[in-house]
Amino acid sequence: MGLTCTNCGNERSFLAKTLQTHVVQSGGKELELTEQSRPAVFELLCDECETDIDFGALESDLRRELILLLGAH
Ligand SMILES: [Zn+2]
Repeated sequence: MGLTCTNCGNERSFLAKTLQTHVVQSGGKELELTEQSRPAVFELLCDECETDIDFGALESDLRRELILLLGAH
């Protein structure tokens, strides 16, 4: 079973928004990026009607697959 939008029935196209944190150090000559977290899945939306899909309610296999796909954690 894949992803399905409960609102419009779309099973093909979804928008995954991820949130990533960077640590920027200033004080030297240039700004420096010292740390970068892996992105966390922030929001999953239907690409057709933009209904919010409850990521936490997805099957664990599907959730894992999506997380791997996005390089998130
Ligand atoms: Zn939809």
